[in-house]
Amino acid sequence: KRSHTRLPSWLKTPIPTNDNYKRIKNDLRGLNLHTVCEEARCPNISDCWGGSNKSAATATIMLMGDTCTRGCRFCSVKTSNKPPPLDPHEPENTAEALKRWGLGYVVLTSVDRDDLADGGARHFAETILKIKQKAPQILVEALTGDYAGDLDMVGMVARSGLDVYAHNVETTEELTPSVRDRRAKFRQSLAVLRAAKEAKPELITKTSIMLGLGETEEQLYATLRELRAVGVDVVTFGQYMRPTKRHMKVEEYVTPATFELWRQRALDAGFLYCASGPLVRSSYKAGEAFIENVLK
Ligand code: SF4
Ligand code: SF4
Repeated sequence: KRSHTRLPSWLKTPIPTNDNYKRIKNDLRGLNLHTVCEEARCPNISDCWGGSNKSAATATIMLMGDTCTRGCRFCSVKTSNKPPPLDPHEPENTAEALKRWGLGYVVLTSVDRDDLADGGARHFAETILKIKQKAPQILVEALTGDYAGDLDMVGMVARSGLDVYAHNVETTEELTPSVRDRRAKFRQSLAVLRAAKEAKPELITKTSIMLGLGETEEQLYATLRELRAVGVDVVTFGQYMRPTKRHMKVEEYVTPATFELWRQRALDAGFLYCASGPLVRSSYKAGEAFIENVLK
C-alpha cells in the first residue's frame, strides 16, 4: 500500500529554469566540480544560479569526501568511522575549477572528519587560500563543522581569507541531543561562532536553524538571543524535510507566514539579514544577500 504523506502546497514547487541558470550549468561541464546544489537536487537551484547577474550567483561545493564520521538524525549523508583519506589535490583542483567556472559566490562545506587530528581544518583552510589566490573576485563562505571544539582550528579557518564563516546550530539547545550527533553540542557550536568572530572581527558569521522539529517559540527566541550574544550576524530559517523513513519525523510544516514572522523577529533581534522560508537552505541566494547587505 502506498503511503499518503501529504505535503503542504507551498512545498510542492516545480523547478523553474532560466537562461542564466542554463548558462552556469553549461559552464560546469568538464570541470569535475561536484555541487551540493545538483547532487542534492536542491529546489532553489535556479534562484541561486540564475539570478540576474553571474557575479551574485551562488553554488555549494562539498569538500573532504562524501562520508561523514557523524550521524545526525536529520541528515542523509553516509556515515563511517573511517572514511577514505583526503585527496591532497582537492584544494588546488577546486580552486582551478572555480576560477574557470567564474561564479560570484561559493559556499564550501564538508562532512565532519573526527578521524583526522585537525578535523580537516588545514585542508579546508588551504582550499580557501588557493581560491583567493587564483580567483580573488570570488566571495567565499565556509560552512564548517565544530572541529570537536578545537577553537584554534576555527581561528585558523577564520583567518584563511574567507568572507563569511558559517556554522549551523541547526536547532534549539533543548532539541540538540535528539537532533544532532551526540558529539555536537549547542554550547560548543556557540563557542565556534564566537571564536570565528574573535579571530577576525570584520568577518560575517552566520548560522542556520531548521523549523518543524518540535521547537517552541520561547526556545527559538532564546536561541536568537544566544546567537546575538556571541556576535552572529546572519541567521537563516528553513523547514526540516525528512530524507527517509529512518530519519526523524517532521513535527510540523511551518507556514510561509510564520517563516516571515521569524525573519522579522531576527531582524528585530539585531541580525544584519535573514533568509527565512520553507525551502530556504543556509546557502540560499547567499551571494545576492551578501552583496545587498554587506557590500552595499
Ligand atoms: Fe545550492 Fe544552497 Fe542554493 Fe540549494 S540553497 S541551490 S544547495 S546554493
Ligand atoms: Fe550530516 Fe553534517 Fe551531521 Fe555529518 S555532521 S551527519 S554531514 S549534518
